[in-house]
Amino acid sequence: MHAGARPPPLGRDHDRPGPRLRRPRLRRREVRRLLGTTVHRHDHPVRPRSGHGAAGQACPLLLRAVRPVRTGGGLLGRGSARGVRRCRGAHTRRVRAWHRGPDPAPAGARAAGHRGDRRYPRGQHLPRRAAAVAVVPAAPRPGRGGLPDAVARLLPLRLVDAVRRRHFRRPGPAGRAPGAGRSADSRHGRWRERGGALNGRVAIVGGGHNGLVAAALLARSGRDVVLFEARPELGGLASTRELIPGHRVDAGSHDLGMFRRSVMEELELAGHGLELIEAPAVAAVPATADSSAVVLWPEVGRTVEGLGGVSRRDAAAWPGFVFELAERAATLEPLLSRPLELADIGGLLIAPEVLRALSSPLEESLRERFENRSLLAGLCGVALPATGLGPRANGTGWPLLFHCALGGSDRLAPVVRAQGGAGALASALATSAAASGAEIRTGVAVSRILVDSGRVAGVQLADGERIEAGAVISTATPSVTFLELLGASVLEPRFVRRLLNVKYRGAAARLALSLDGLPAFRGLERPALTGRIVLAEQPDDIERAADAAKYRRLPDRPWIEAALPTTLDPSLAPAGRHLLLATVHHLPFDLDGGWDAGGPELLARVAAELERWAPGIGGLVREHALLLPTDFEADYGATAGGLHHGEMNPSQSLWLRPTASAWAGEPLPASGLWLGGAGCHPGGGLTGLPGTIAAVSLLRG
Ligand SMILES: Cc1cc2nc3c(=O)[nH]c(=O)nc-3n(C[C@H](O)[C@H](O)[C@H](O)COP(=O)(O)OP(=O)(O)OC[C@H]3O[C@@H](n4cnc5c(N)ncnc54)[C@H](O)[C@@H]3O)c2cc1C
Repeated sequence: MHAGARPPPLGRDHDRPGPRLRRPRLRRREVRRLLGTTVHRHDHPVRPRSGHGAAGQACPLLLRAVRPVRTGGGLLGRGSARGVRRCRGAHTRRVRAWHRGPDPAPAGARAAGHRGDRRYPRGQHLPRRAAAVAVVPAAPRPGRGGLPDAVARLLPLRLVDAVRRRHFRRPGPAGRAPGAGRSADSRHGRWRERGGALNGRVAIVGGGHNGLVAAALLARSGRDVVLFEARPELGGLASTRELIPGHRVDAGSHDLGMFRRSVMEELELAGHGLELIEAPAVAAVPATADSSAVVLWPEVGRTVEGLGGVSRRDAAAWPGFVFELAERAATLEPLLSRPLELADIGGLLIAPEVLRALSSPLEESLRERFENRSLLAGLCGVALPATGLGPRANGTGWPLLFHCALGGSDRLAPVVRAQGGAGALASALATSAAASGAEIRTGVAVSRILVDSGRVAGVQLADGERIEAGAVISTATPSVTFLELLGASVLEPRFVRRLLNVKYRGAAARLALSLDGLPAFRGLERPALTGRIVLAEQPDDIERAADAAKYRRLPDRPWIEAALPTTLDPSLAPAGRHLLLATVHHLPFDLDGGWDAGGPELLARVAAELERWAPGIGGLVREHALLLPTDFEADYGATAGGLHHGEMNPSQSLWLRPTASAWAGEPLPASGLWLGGAGCHPGGGLTGLPGTIAAVSLLRG
């Protein structure tokens, strides 16, 4: 191994045992340029096999070098060592580099499993299809220089003896003899997943709505399912909590407009207590001193009638806009509702209008049709929550199409609420799952996803209990799943790099207000108050908020997506009270100066803004509760407070969600592991689709 610019001296390369290699990454040429000639060593201490013959062929790799560390009191475990590396310089332990040394197999029953974690996934490895994971380089010694700051960068390395070897005559993960369960049509000798993973238990990490959907679908298909949710209540970012005494407050999402009706029917959620209420209005922008109110209704004619009083041009353009949107959304909808196949790319490419619409700046494409700034603000307010992007950014057409494709394309993202709050969806899902035999455990955090010989073996809980499982579906964010639960050390460096590059922008805060009465938003009657109330005068208000977030500042005038759920379901608040949920979007997670000072400042700015839109509302407020972006991360594991487990833009959607090398339905770094949360295809929102796709993919094997 060589860390510097010069080629390594002959005979001083490191070989590595080659565990967990999965995909083609570096071509030989690229490495030769970096490394020059390499000599294969036959007696390297960390290489477990012979270097002779075809199997001794060199294979170039990119490796992330890490050093084992130990404290004055002894070796650190993997978990604590990671902590030490992360806060280099800030820890109190005395740490020094250490060479692994001899590692003989122990006597007894465990002998065959010795170094089991170094085997290739699925017990095999394809020629020239290799990518690397972390490797522990030997300590410096005379003749071999040290690796300066080895943890921090990737090191090119030639792997000897990586290919065409399988572990013949060794027992498999579950005591299975190699060859057993091998499919006849498997030309590359791959092990079939079906035997191992699917006959065993499925562990699900996270009891948000996606985890519950997956649990219910799998249990219904006869799988043995156990779900773990860290919080005491189910629902995740769509849970209902008593944040204000006597009130049922939705902590996150409260709109079921995109939730799949097919899943609802399949799981018989109505029979399990779910009752939906569709709001008469889709979105409304109240009047200001110099603009009239605009209301968007599900019915095209009703919207046209209202727009007629605001802008004749816009009223005339509305039916055509809705029709075209419906057409484009219909092209997209099938891609969002099932595991993706490569053929789908072709389908998208032959729909240039869809490509243009999803890649353009939203404001620009809306201005091609409409002129009224409140209407433009309303449409941007429907599309852009939680994207982290201002309406002038490329790619902001995507979220509007997404909402329409999943919300019922002919009705422009209708608002649908659950009687009793969004948590009622989680309750119905949990009841359905339990009725089919799933075990649901709340207040139980998963601390690790266990992997043995490249495939999932179960999960370890925070209290140390180990639960065996043949497959794991994680609905935690991709960062939490891979970097915390699985551990970066078992991942390819390229994959880790891609994970670190996933954007989680799009943080928000949720302010819940208990009001003595219905607030008077200018120009809006009661039915118009049932949907989204967009408090932005024009798209520029959203653009400026996005700009402020970019520079880690609070917006001078936050834009707010407000809702009055008690207009549809009075049971959410004590008699005579109304509940206002104000979601403040486009906030920075890493606010300059921190959220301890920023929280009260945000509250003051939001209160001033609400007063501007609904004069006198301040006098109605009895109690309030505020959830900040940091609360969403701390309470729900939502990385960087992102509402959708990753920004929703074209560069992180479809085959690119969460990364280009791992999308829903694709095998992940450990065989038997599936992503099933909002961080994977098709993305965030209360759709139930990521959970469905994970369950379907797992059942298909
Ligand atoms: C303020 C706000 C407003 C929103 N508004 C809307 C909206 O209007 N419309 C819409 O469609 N969407 C909205 N969303 C987004 C939507 O709520 C989410 O995208 C969706 O709920 C994600 O569901 P999920 O099941 O994939 O993940 P989550 O709901 O995040 O569930 C993941 C669960 O995993 C648990 N977990 C994490 N790590 C572990 C672990 N190690 N062990 C055990 N459990 C673990 C978490 O506690 C959590 O319960 C909003 C979100 C927020 C926060």
